[in-house]
Amino acid sequence: MVSTGFRLLRYGGVYETDGIVSTSLLSWALIRYLGAEVAVMVDEGFGNIFKALAWEAGVGQSDPLKVVELPLNRRSAEERFRSLMAGLRPAAMVAVERPGANSMGVYHNSRGQDISHLHAVADRLIEGLRLDGVPLIAVGDGGNEAGMAVVSDVVEQFIPYGGKCVCGCGGGIAAATGCDHPVIASISDLGVYGVLAHLLPLDGFAEIISKVERVMRAAVGLGCADAFHGPGFIGVDGVDHHSIKAVLGIIKRVVE
Ligand SMILES: [Zn+2]
Repeated sequence: MVSTGFRLLRYGGVYETDGIVSTSLLSWALIRYLGAEVAVMVDEGFGNIFKALAWEAGVGQSDPLKVVELPLNRRSAEERFRSLMAGLRPAAMVAVERPGANSMGVYHNSRGQDISHLHAVADRLIEGLRLDGVPLIAVGDGGNEAGMAVVSDVVEQFIPYGGKCVCGCGGGIAAATGCDHPVIASISDLGVYGVLAHLLPLDGFAEIISKVERVMRAAVGLGCADAFHGPGFIGVDGVDHHSIKAVLGIIKRVVE
């Protein structure tokens, strides 16, 4: 069970590229190399975008990938999640660059603004499962993502708006939900690729490198945007696809 998707307030609520790009590739890798069945939770209205990206990443029509859209309304999201859980028993959960509410239940972007109206309560639903014993691997880069409460003291101290946001909720952007296995990276997608480098055989990771630009281009083509440079920029968090591929090449050399 995987959740991803961070909507950008300043670009009309589209998904940012970071998170969904690597999660598409992660889904493919989990199915192809680990024989896993994968369910991905995104926000209402973004299911088809994720499916298209997973297809670009190599997931086939007959592959065991289920994409679930969570309604923005909290009660509706809880109902959808309950009916989903009636048929699933997740062995593990992964959250990638998924907004995490602070202790007041407010979701924030990295500028300290309230983005609660754009996001379903995936982090809370995941937290419920985690308390029931399903381990959570959480990937984040700013401290305001699901699972990042494990470093909230550092986020509050060192990350802009970590302890005090600009929305007036009285808290900061530091997420209130924890995780079992934090993966903290300068860019969340790079954290996912780091994990994949260890998880996959070398030829599998080489395939990730060969596919990453295609998936990024597809994401931008579908209206997703870079969090720093906006729509049309082929990259994640202000880093273009050439540089991302170069870093992946370095990661590959390290595990070799
Ligand atoms: Zn706030």
